[in-house]
Amino acid sequence: MTYADSSGVDWARIREDFPILREQVRGQPLVYLDNAASSQKPRAVMDALVEFYEHSNANVHRGLHELSSRATDAYEGAREKVARYLGAACAEEIVFTRGTTEGVNLVANAWGNASLKAGDVILLTEMEHHSNLVPWQMLAARTGAQVRYLPVTAEGELALEELDTFLTPAVKIFAFTHISNSLGTINPAAELCRAAKKVGALSLLDAAQSAGHCPVNVREIGCDFLVFSGHKMCAPTGIGALYGRRELLDSLPPWHGGGEMISSVTYEGATFKSAPYRFEAGTPNIAGAVGLGAAIDYIEAIGREAIFAHDSALVDYAQERLAELPGLHVLGPRRGRGGLVSFSMDAAHPHDITTYVDRFGVALRGGHHCNQPLMRKLRLPGTTRASFYFYNTQSEVDRLIEVLQEVQRFFA
Ligand code: PMP
Repeated sequence: MTYADSSGVDWARIREDFPILREQVRGQPLVYLDNAASSQKPRAVMDALVEFYEHSNANVHRGLHELSSRATDAYEGAREKVARYLGAACAEEIVFTRGTTEGVNLVANAWGNASLKAGDVILLTEMEHHSNLVPWQMLAARTGAQVRYLPVTAEGELALEELDTFLTPAVKIFAFTHISNSLGTINPAAELCRAAKKVGALSLLDAAQSAGHCPVNVREIGCDFLVFSGHKMCAPTGIGALYGRRELLDSLPPWHGGGEMISSVTYEGATFKSAPYRFEAGTPNIAGAVGLGAAIDYIEAIGREAIFAHDSALVDYAQERLAELPGLHVLGPRRGRGGLVSFSMDAAHPHDITTYVDRFGVALRGGHHCNQPLMRKLRLPGTTRASFYFYNTQSEVDRLIEVLQEVQRFFA
């Protein structure tokens, strides 16, 4: 089998938009396969940041001067782009956050503190990233609610036949990942949200691994909340967003207090702005939001279907080639996975593999991938992960295989 992509996109030209991909690492051309941790940034996003700082920089929503209104327009314009990108009904459904982690913490606090009591259940899955797990455990400790986990099968998929057993009327929220960052599994988000709704539970989708990789539409999926991080989809670090259904967000109390989120303040107390502003206390990451808007423009110009087709073809090819290596075991489903592949090798520990391949300029990730409970369940110390994005190439996969063969020789 060879890498086959029928999108017609000129991926080689697109790769040129990423200056860092021309970097030499340890005297070798960089092969960057750690995109699930963070993606690289195209020139267009960097230019948008420079343009903002050179021509529009000021605080938002405050000053009555020209630069402040330019900055406010840029920031609110980015919110509208995020809303359109996710298929939200309006920009008021989008809260800017630092990323996925902050989005989950916001919901766990603003919604969870007031809504949960002893006996209630927070349903997660066994494949959740720590950021969609620890905030819920902390909420459970505060409220007396219980956290339960929909199991993962030996094939690395959710045990959907057990869904009805777990999704009881005691479940108040079902929070799950769209694409697993360690297994690559794509979960049937719309089906899971429908099932949650049937028992009266809210749903939260962790779109950290999907928002920049495939079409994601909140109304088609039917989730109540969705969280994602900009830095995994060509935007700067420190910016992301929470989507929440408008009437739901409007019904929630603020989480952080401070400037920007109030209507009025006295020495005795305060009243708060409507959503999303009541959730954005203090000066926000204005340039980050502008960068996220530029990243969305960039990704949409390529097309999310084309990106998904490219990543899928590359990961299929990678799986074929990895199968050539004796003693290498790929985790997760064989087909229908996101653009990443996690594996273990009899030859060496994931940390040793990752450190060794770095000598050849190949950037992988090795370890538990913030999935410690899942790794414990799978009885693995961790895995080695190669994760792709649209600028990766078939020859980079070939280079990965060559370097893994070196690993086998070195650790034999
Ligand atoms: N969820 C998933 C599935 C992830 O892959 C990640 C990042 N590895 C996160 C949540 C956390 O994202 P962030 O660190 O950007 O908040």
